[in-house]
Amino acid sequence: MDYELIERAREAQQRAYAPYSHFPVGAALRTEDGAIVVGVNVENASYPLGCCAERVAVYSAVAQGFRRFVRIAVVGPGPGLITPCGGCRQVLREFGDMDVLMADAQGTSEPKIMRLTDLLPFGFGKGDLNGL
Ligand SMILES: [Zn+2]
Repeated sequence: MDYELIERAREAQQRAYAPYSHFPVGAALRTEDGAIVVGVNVENASYPLGCCAERVAVYSAVAQGFRRFVRIAVVGPGPGLITPCGGCRQVLREFGDMDVLMADAQGTSEPKIMRLTDLLPFGFGKGDLNGL
């Protein structure tokens, strides 16, 4: 279990901008070469324009030049664990399969780990665009 990654997601969670949902989420991506890139959910008064922590992490990582990821940690407010939403699963899938670590903010629940392909079976990807 990558506890350092979970801890970085917990630290990021405290910077979430969630004035409407009051549901702060932090995410941390581990790149193939060991770097960590974090994200938080960023909400907006125009509700649909908000963005999940996982996607913010992916977009930030790509902007920093990273494209190969081995795992992502997602931390919700608890007490239960949260999983990435369907949209984020699809965004993560763009960059291949990876481990998804789910943890709560307080560390009261044991973190859970799942493969992205188990969270998004039969996902749509680059290969599906062949033949166009
Ligand atoms: Zn999401």
